Amino acid sequence: MPKDTHLIDLNDIYVDYAGDGVLALENLNLYIRENEFVTLLGPSGCGKSTTLRIIGGFVKPTQGTVRLNGEDITDMPPHKRPVNTVFQKYALFPNMDVFENVAFGLRIAKVPEKEIRERVQKMLDLVGLSKYGDRPVDSLSGGQQQRVAIARALVNEPKVLLLDEPLGALDLKMRRGMQEELKRMHKTLGITFVYVTHDQEEAMTMSDTVVVMNDGIIQQIGTPQDIYNEPKNAFVANFIGESDILPGIMHEPYLVEFDGVKFPCVDKGFETPEVDVVVRPEDIKITTPEAGMIRATIEEVTFMGIHNVILARSENGYLWRIKDTGSWEEGKAVGLVIEPDGIHIMRKPVSEDEMPLEEVEAIEEEGMEDET
Ligand code: ADP
Repeated sequence: MPKDTHLIDLNDIYVDYAGDGVLALENLNLYIRENEFVTLLGPSGCGKSTTLRIIGGFVKPTQGTVRLNGEDITDMPPHKRPVNTVFQKYALFPNMDVFENVAFGLRIAKVPEKEIRERVQKMLDLVGLSKYGDRPVDSLSGGQQQRVAIARALVNEPKVLLLDEPLGALDLKMRRGMQEELKRMHKTLGITFVYVTHDQEEAMTMSDTVVVMNDGIIQQIGTPQDIYNEPKNAFVANFIGESDILPGIMHEPYLVEFDGVKFPCVDKGFETPEVDVVVRPEDIKITTPEAGMIRATIEEVTFMGIHNVILARSENGYLWRIKDTGSWEEGKAVGLVIEPDGIHIMRKPVSEDEMPLEEVEAIEEEGMEDET
């Protein structure tokens, strides 16, 4: 569990790499607590790695301060910081065996041989490679090589481990296994992990705290549950999970209209009645037309394993996306029910910083193309 004390404070950080006014980070404020597992999550180019490089000392902010335990370290060079980084490309030394790859930093620091043996062995045990010390690194699988890279980063006993998409090069099954292992290591070691990924599922399953970023700006900081259940804007809602997002009108506190129907909800609303409404596909129940709040016709049913994804067109023309375990026939008239706590009310984007929905969707599609 993270402690209450701030280990790292990033205050009012701006980064303008080329000095041309294009900001990689804009007014970033973030604290990271001791022992916390923090994940920076967002689409490619949103500034996650830049934030990590600022913590590591590889990028100096154009403006703003970096503190460690309250001390200003903005100008401290990387090798003096109690921080180590694991990259997606592990950059191991191919001509050395596993043991020597892990021992490398300790040899440079002239640690006595006996201590090197003990510390390296302890790290190899931790990453599950205790019997692999004398193997050439290039005889190992991708997942095993990444473990060597993690052991190498941890052997210096850093206070903070920075992980920049460390599992990005692994196949899905190996990723899942390594996610579990990283969580276990974080627990065992009790050090702070700052993790970068564009994979929302990875972020949600591993972290104490998720920081959702877009376009150099933090969109929301919270626990995975907060971020999933109470997304602050359409960008977060869309990025975190597939949702139905549609415009709504708050008629009064706890009463919102969307898709032509008035629904009781658990939110009060904001200054203006126009809002965005988010409904998770698993929060919509399909029933008979008479018992439903919305009348709709089933257009498409796709079998997805445990549940079906169902597309149902309402009388008003909105195409609802629903997750349901029942079997429904295409063309059938149904009713849809949404309980008050399944309805999330969000402020409409107001400033230039927050994007209208169409742009968010365009970015999402780009992101998907990136991954293929
Ligand atoms: P992410 O890690 O979220 O993919 P980055 O932090 O790498 O994003 O990049 C944020 C923005 O800064 C991007 O627009 C990227 O092109 C730009 N950028 C990153 N590194 C540099 C650099 N060394 N010089 C110039 N621009 C950079």
